Amino acid sequence: MEALHASGIDYAIFFYNPNIHPKKEYLLRKEENIRFAEQHGIEFIDADYDTDNWFARAKGMEFEPERGIRCTMCFDMRFERTALYAKENGYTLISSSLGISRWKDMNQINDCGHRAAAPYEGIEYWDYNWRKKGGSKRMIEISKRERFYQQEYCGCVYSLRDSTSTARRRAAT
Ligand code: SF4
Repeated sequence: MEALHASGIDYAIFFYNPNIHPKKEYLLRKEENIRFAEQHGIEFIDADYDTDNWFARAKGMEFEPERGIRCTMCFDMRFERTALYAKENGYTLISSSLGISRWKDMNQINDCGHRAAAPYEGIEYWDYNWRKKGGSKRMIEISKRERFYQQEYCGCVYSLRDSTSTARRRAAT
């Protein structure tokens, strides 16, 4: 957000994360996002928390590992809604800061972003590498400065389950 703001690009935050579970965690992350957006005067668009759709699409992928096909579905779903919103509301570019996390596969994210934008004439997906030019370091600095809540798992109930069982295994060794 800070890098985009400094670049002079006129943008809005589209918060569409029906993957995040439970709702308490979803609200916590959203509130943190709103707090930063308000400080910088960035428009914040609060999209649906349509978890039923997310769970319907995730059916059969409950035990897929992170960075696997469930994550592709999850990125696809969120980018599809973003691209549709962009088309309907006069935006020309979509992107996501998801790739700044070292736990994520940037190629996987970028493929999903390009796929979502492809059906719409006049909409492009921006595959900017957020980790470059000190992006990751800056993210940590801002996070500390703002005292942002530190999420301990990616977001969905399955990533929560897997992070909890990993923590239990660590505690047992
Ligand atoms: S692990 Fe993260 S990206 Fe993958 S399905 Fe769950 S919330 Fe989505």
